[in-house]
Amino acid sequence: MTLLEGKTAIIFGLANDRSIAWGIAKALHVQGATLGFSYANEQLERRVRPLAESLGSTFTEECDVAKDKDIQAVADKAADTFGKVDILIHSVAFADRNELIGPYYNTSRAGFHLAMDISVYSFVGIAKAFQPILNPGGALLCMTYYGSEKVAPNYNAMGVAKAALEASTRYLAYDFGEQRIRVNAISAGPIRTLASSGVGKFRDMYKYFADAAPIKENVTIEDIGQSAVFLCSDMSRHITGEVLFVDSGYNIVGMLEPCMPADRE
Ligand code: NAD
Repeated sequence: MTLLEGKTAIIFGLANDRSIAWGIAKALHVQGATLGFSYANEQLERRVRPLAESLGSTFTEECDVAKDKDIQAVADKAADTFGKVDILIHSVAFADRNELIGPYYNTSRAGFHLAMDISVYSFVGIAKAFQPILNPGGALLCMTYYGSEKVAPNYNAMGVAKAALEASTRYLAYDFGEQRIRVNAISAGPIRTLASSGVGKFRDMYKYFADAAPIKENVTIEDIGQSAVFLCSDMSRHITGEVLFVDSGYNIVGMLEPCMPADRE
């Protein structure tokens, strides 16, 4: 018996086989979930469709999460196709590249709004559209990053957006509690993906991370997938409104061991 037998999951945010959404999709599939996918635009379709098919899914719906009608169309299609849904994965974020370099005070009003709309409100909008067709015992999951709590240079408006996403996770967890639906977030360590390539000096951050984390390794999309299974299955049935760090322990470190002049001799 697998952990997600009989469960249906809709995954937002698959772009390619490096996406965190792909790591999650593979792990949910291994545990027996039926999958549906939503992707941002037409250009991604040729990548997303074969990936979905390789996991036995023909549900691939285009959806710009900035548009309520697109989100509602995916929810309506999911209702027609599956009846009810058990798991929603939100693995979506966007900010203009020029907002992710230099001082935070240079953030433009339009850039701030865009980052908040795509990376935060969309989670709320998806929760609202799917609420009538969510099964009790279900789970919602979104992806966040430690730049929400502490300054990660260049992460800027996205750090502020992730703080709002984590707060939204708690508010949604409160709302959905009575329906016995749980809402959680995974705070992932840096992973090389399309989205992260837009963050200024990401390569340096990625390298630094493995040196600084207690477990001296970067995390993978497969690691995130395993933790997603935990948060979407009955193994975590009384956990809601939480942010689970999957970051080799990076977030617990207050200071690296100082390198004293004597050490260098
Ligand atoms: P990714 O580029 O593979 O995924 C981001 C997805 O967001 C893409 O599929 C993209 O198409 C989608 N998206 C952007 N604008 C959209 C829109 N208007 N409508 C619909 N979809 C839209 O990169 P990823 O790193 O897998 O990112 C997934 C999530 O993980 C994001 O929330 C990201 O912030 C988070 N995260 C990433 C890292 C990392 O280092 N890669 C670390 C922590 C958290």
